[in-house]
Amino acid sequence: MSGFNLIDKRELDLLASTVSKLAEGYEHLPELPPAPSTDAMQTVLLNVAERMHDNYPYAHPLYAGQMLKPPHPIARTAYQMAMWVNPNNHALDGGRASSALEKEAVKEIAAMFGFAQSLGHLTSSGTLANLEALWIAGEITPDKVITASSESHYTHQRISAVLKLPFEAIPADATGRIDIHALRDRAKSGHLGTVVATAGTTSFGIVDPIKDIIDLGREFGFRVHVDAAYGGYFALSELPERLRRDYDAIAEADSVAIDPHKHGLQPYGCGCVLFSDPSVGKHYRHDSPYTYFSSEELHLGEISLECSRAGAAATALWATQSLLPLKKKGTFAQDLDRCRRAAAMLSSRLSADTRFKVIREQDLDIVVWAFDDPSPSVASKLAADTFDIAAEHELHLALIDVDATLVSDTPSYEGAGSVTCLRSCLMKPQHIDWVDEIYTRLDVAASAALAKRDT
Ligand SMILES: *Cc1c(COP(=O)(O)O)cnc(C)c1O
Repeated sequence: MSGFNLIDKRELDLLASTVSKLAEGYEHLPELPPAPSTDAMQTVLLNVAERMHDNYPYAHPLYAGQMLKPPHPIARTAYQMAMWVNPNNHALDGGRASSALEKEAVKEIAAMFGFAQSLGHLTSSGTLANLEALWIAGEITPDKVITASSESHYTHQRISAVLKLPFEAIPADATGRIDIHALRDRAKSGHLGTVVATAGTTSFGIVDPIKDIIDLGREFGFRVHVDAAYGGYFALSELPERLRRDYDAIAEADSVAIDPHKHGLQPYGCGCVLFSDPSVGKHYRHDSPYTYFSSEELHLGEISLECSRAGAAATALWATQSLLPLKKKGTFAQDLDRCRRAAAMLSSRLSADTRFKVIREQDLDIVVWAFDDPSPSVASKLAADTFDIAAEHELHLALIDVDATLVSDTPSYEGAGSVTCLRSCLMKPQHIDWVDEIYTRLDVAASAALAKRDT
């Protein structure tokens, strides 16, 4: 195969051989006439392949921009295999085996966070996982405020609006973490129902002081939901003491959202919500006349707001966790360590380069940097030009607008609004071997952008 090994032929062989095993389970059924010829499909699919060229090369380490990480081959293979069954994990009637796989896989995620007991299930995304957590929060403390840091994902404010729950943002401090003193002051009012703590903000990968938030929750009686959609899996990573303490504290949260489709090597369509108190399941109760009649067991559809859900997603997740268990110091954990180290390497290269300024010290594997220029508008233009020129050299970065005061404390930046910066999510374990190459190409692009400014 040509290309950057986008497709490994062995993966297709693996699929063919394992699907044959799947087919054995159906051999006793009367045969059906063969499916229509694939000729017409081939024409269409070749057209689709052509159309799909219009994408950045997300799976390649030179894609170092947004939060995109290729699924593991085992996830891809298990997902495709499951497609021949196409189970629906809404009710056991629709997907017995994949519902069992879902429960097992979710239990392993709960164990990763140190939950002694839990109720949880997969969702189609982190947004839905957070929605369910805040919905339950609103059921338990109906008139109270949901709060999150100003650096939290915008979804919390929007979800609160959907749920008609009052939402208030708490400012973040200069490091990007929720201002714990401001939170304490707000908590004193007694109006807080739930505080959302973020384990890995989407922009910077910063981890809120989760332990301190949990302690405040104990003192003032609010719930704590941890949005670990991005950074949850770093619970398995080798971490400095402060982060270790905050990740360990997740065990005491009321709920957690995590996205296996971000750092968990899954195709899109795989989020997960966990509750530490299984009795919250009562809020999901509903009377469905038709979906459940085959079993006395708990149906996943009885503890999920979404109805139909892809059993294939659960199948892929279970297979991945079986190959790469969620264990500290295991292969999966070591791969996450590599991502953090790659980010630290890129960050120190940038810090040593007088053209750039790294914004905030990173906790995980996301690096944000600006051009060091006396004018905020010139700095923004340089970042945008570098982004474009780097892409021409097949280095794919991301852009982010950052509050100008984070970039510089000089007067020209005061009141300048925002400054465009460059951002890189080093989510692939291979990134650690590509930092030099990434830097070389960045250097070329930045030099060209600066030359353009000077003409
Ligand atoms: C990505 C993300 C979300 C939203 O999750 P989706 O899977 O994109 O719906 C929520 N919170 C955080 C912190 C995220 O990084």
